[in-house]
Amino acid sequence: MGEMMRYETPSTAKEAVTLMAKEKGVAFILAGGTDLLVKMKAGMLEPDLVVDIKRIKGMADIKKTASGFSVGAAVPCSALTENAALVKAWPGVVEAANLIGSKQVQGRCTMSGNLCNASPAADSVPALVAAGAKVVIAGPKGNRKLAVEDVPAGVGRTNLKKGEIITAIELPKKLPKSGDAYLRFIPRTEMDIAVVSCGVNLTIDAKGVITKARVALGAVATTVLLVKDAAKAIIGTKLDAEAKAKLAAACSAACKPIDDKRGTIEFRIEVAGVLARRAAETAYARAGGK
Ligand SMILES: Cc1cc2nc3c(=O)[nH]c(=O)nc-3n(C[C@H](O)[C@H](O)[C@H](O)COP(=O)(O)OP(=O)(O)OC[C@H]3O[C@@H](n4cnc5c(N)ncnc54)[C@H](O)[C@@H]3O)c2cc1C
Repeated sequence: MGEMMRYETPSTAKEAVTLMAKEKGVAFILAGGTDLLVKMKAGMLEPDLVVDIKRIKGMADIKKTASGFSVGAAVPCSALTENAALVKAWPGVVEAANLIGSKQVQGRCTMSGNLCNASPAADSVPALVAAGAKVVIAGPKGNRKLAVEDVPAGVGRTNLKKGEIITAIELPKKLPKSGDAYLRFIPRTEMDIAVVSCGVNLTIDAKGVITKARVALGAVATTVLLVKDAAKAIIGTKLDAEAKAKLAAACSAACKPIDDKRGTIEFRIEVAGVLARRAAETAYARAGGK
């Protein structure tokens, strides 16, 4: 038996960083715990230190800022649905975060935890990447920001350095005539992990022509992918049949999926294109396109 695990509840991000930076053993941040506690119970992880961030002042707040929204790292996904301005601006992000688990899980889990758990199938991540979201990181050397797509380093690994924690996720201001959407394929109707998923965010002009787009895919590679060729396929179009076919092809081409009992490589590649098309249609309609 090792030594007893220590559990800390700092009241500032700085204290949390110091605790994490100083720890010589295995240390984890605890947000909702819906990944961490499950892994600890299963004996997959035996931390020496757990730093709970839920009591840090401001960490559970959703703030409207000059540049958009700031979602604190301890905001449970269910709270996102109660913020009308956020739902209006980023319906795809809010829907994605509330596909996680069940009502009970959503009452605990956070988007930051979903991102730091670094599963390629994490539901909120493609939507955040499509939205162009950034994370605010506090660390021993001060604060820095990273694009969400640059946080995962591989399956279960992030680019956060020793002592660094995410304090908030920043969503940009919604541009006029813009819309986002997220879709996933699961073999069941709920409580399952995405076999393929896709987030799309786009902006149109007065004529309905797409001027900006971001497309992200989940569960088809070791990390969530930002697929620039997919965005290129629809920019300058009114999302006509040809543009949708090119979008689907670009998404399928970007996939490097695994083969498992939940979905074959061929299936995942095909479905990535289908989901991208459908998510783009929803995003286009939300932007006011016809
Ligand atoms: C029954 C069940 C169903 C689920 N269904 C889904 C699903 O459908 N889709 C899905 O994507 N996931 C699902 N999950 C996984 C999990 O709920 C999500 O990944 C969730 O978003 C994790 O958030 P959390 O706040 O609970 O993370 P935690 O468990 O608290 O933390 C997860 C990891 O991130 C680290 N971490 C957390 N916050 C920070 C931070 N601010 N800075 C640095 N590191 C941090 C932790 O140390 C830990 O390693 C499910 C889990 C359960 C138990």
